Amino acid sequence: MHLYELTIHEARALLNAGEISAVELTQAVIDRILAVDNAVRAYITLTPEAALEQARAADTAFRQGQALPLLGIPLAIKDILCTAGIPTTCGSRILENFVPPYDATAVARLKAAGAVILGKTNTDEFAMGSSTENSAFFPTHNPWDLERVPGGSSGGSAAAVAAGECLGALGTDTGGSVRQPAAFCGIVGLKPTYGRVSRYGLIAFASSLDQVGVLTRDVTDAAMLMNVIAGHDPKDSTSLDAPVPDYTTALTGDIRGMRIGVPREYFIPGMQPEVEAAVRAALQRLADLGAEIVEVSLPHTDYALPVYYLIAPAEASANLARYDGVRYGLRMVGNSLEDTYQQTRGQGFGPEVKRRIMLGTYALSAGYYDAYYLKAQKVRTLIKGDFDRAFEQVDVVVAPTSPTTAFRIGEKTEDPIQMYLSDVFTLSLNLAGICGINVPCGFDAQGLPIGMQIMGPALGEMTVLRVAYAYEQATDWHTRRPPI
Ligand code: GLN
Repeated sequence: MHLYELTIHEARALLNAGEISAVELTQAVIDRILAVDNAVRAYITLTPEAALEQARAADTAFRQGQALPLLGIPLAIKDILCTAGIPTTCGSRILENFVPPYDATAVARLKAAGAVILGKTNTDEFAMGSSTENSAFFPTHNPWDLERVPGGSSGGSAAAVAAGECLGALGTDTGGSVRQPAAFCGIVGLKPTYGRVSRYGLIAFASSLDQVGVLTRDVTDAAMLMNVIAGHDPKDSTSLDAPVPDYTTALTGDIRGMRIGVPREYFIPGMQPEVEAAVRAALQRLADLGAEIVEVSLPHTDYALPVYYLIAPAEASANLARYDGVRYGLRMVGNSLEDTYQQTRGQGFGPEVKRRIMLGTYALSAGYYDAYYLKAQKVRTLIKGDFDRAFEQVDVVVAPTSPTTAFRIGEKTEDPIQMYLSDVFTLSLNLAGICGINVPCGFDAQGLPIGMQIMGPALGEMTVLRVAYAYEQATDWHTRRPPI
């Protein structure tokens, strides 16, 4: 076993026992990055010197008796979360040289808990995408098959976790960007309830949908990271002022008597048969563990995709108006102010971001607002109502995370609708503001990971973690490592 393959809780135990040092662990992960990242390309920015410095400080703190939860644990951060003094690009030319003066709250909390930060991971530009191919810099490759995408938009974080290039990572999820790449890379990805983790310092894509999430090799690690990053933040007025439980206490392995809903709308024609078979087998496993499987209906599921692709671009068009070449980021000086705006935005934004800005501006414009944006908001309420009713009958809802396993690089880039469809099972949760986790549940005939999504109500993280952990302990999918 290599040190870079350790889970966070395994590394914690070895560090606590004094069997390894934070410097040894961090160096092993840096060596791993140097060995494989020219093939995987998970990182946009690497900060190895700073990481080793933090590791040395962690070893000193440990000798002085400090017992911080993540002391000496090397982690990666999606490049859409602000990091003081370290470039934060959002995968975009427009922020290529932007160095934030402050840390996102989630990053600050990891640091305060003793974590070592290795660098910033690749993302679709402004998190708009499902494959990491919309990064302005380069696509990330799936460690299970380098010809394939790692999913997105947190594809850099997911690939890094899967390939041993960090022990865990932060991502963000607006419509599936933590759960879908976790599924494609065979790891755990938790999207918390809207407001559970502060969005302060998360560069906004769609503010009513964005949420910080965690990507890890197992469920215990996800609970450990959530213990650190969850909680109220006075700097984010939408962050929830609810007590943060110790998420590791949900990991009992006992799900006897729990009620698990299977939504009939989530097993659709056209999905990869192996995905359906793996998720159905996983449901049987949950039944064997003593859960009761109940069919439920989420009748407005078909509207989730169009509703999301009105609301998310509408919010994006407003959020991205700030990149005008005046205060920060790229500035292309033109003959007039108007010309400067046009050149800066014309050259700074990639095609998908421009598409979203145009769609969103159209949906919000006078005469179309009522027909598109306002109607989408009403249907969003119906989608949330579907989940409210389902959670009156069941504790969690289980479905595939994505209708397919990882697709080939280039396969869907010419057809935005095909790309949008890869989030058909994940977007509804963001619209409803609820939580969900991906856990590995099998492999297809090509050896690509398959993911199962466990969805819970608002602030239901304890419940989804409990089910995820019980399933994980009864299976060994999470112990497989990619061939790279
Ligand atoms: N793939 C979806 C989109 O392109 C979701 C992205 C995300 O969750 N950030 O908008």
